[in-house]
Amino acid sequence: GIRLKDEILRVKQIIKAAQINFVSEGEFTLVNVSLLTENILSMCLKEAVNNVVKHSEANTCFISIEQSGKETVMTIRDDGVFKDKTGILAEGHGLIGMKERLEFINGNLKLLTKNGTTLIISVPNDVK
Ligand code: ATP
Ligand code: MG
Repeated sequence: GIRLKDEILRVKQIIKAAQINFVSEGEFTLVNVSLLTENILSMCLKEAVNNVVKHSEANTCFISIEQSGKETVMTIRDDGVFKDKTGILAEGHGLIGMKERLEFINGNLKLLTKNGTTLIISVPNDVK
């Protein structure tokens, strides 16, 4: 499994290689989450950044992580254009895969498509 602090380094390189600005906020060394939860967050981060690079035509990608007592929230936002297509949540693709994995750990995925694309991923903290 991949730790989030390792995945953030990788996606930073991928974003920079695509000549998109990278802005991050928060502490990517997580506390109070299981390794399974952290691995799923890492996978979601990778998929989300693949989409930014592949689809968004953005200038800047913003990634933040916030932990409260109860939950961990990761936000991936870009200032490009969301490419709306029919069958957007087609099986086997990135977004639906994220949603399925998050449901498995009682997490949640919110997709906002105004002024670019924003993915808000929240998961309950599952280790005391
Ligand atoms: P795969 O993830 O299997 O390589 P995919 O990227 O097309 O395929 P999803 O990740 O599920 O599939 O995304 C669905 C669609 O949503 C994309 O094809 C694209 O049209 C749109 N989309 C997703 N993320 C973005 C983004 N950051 N900017 C613009 N469009 C996006
Ligand atoms: Mg994708």
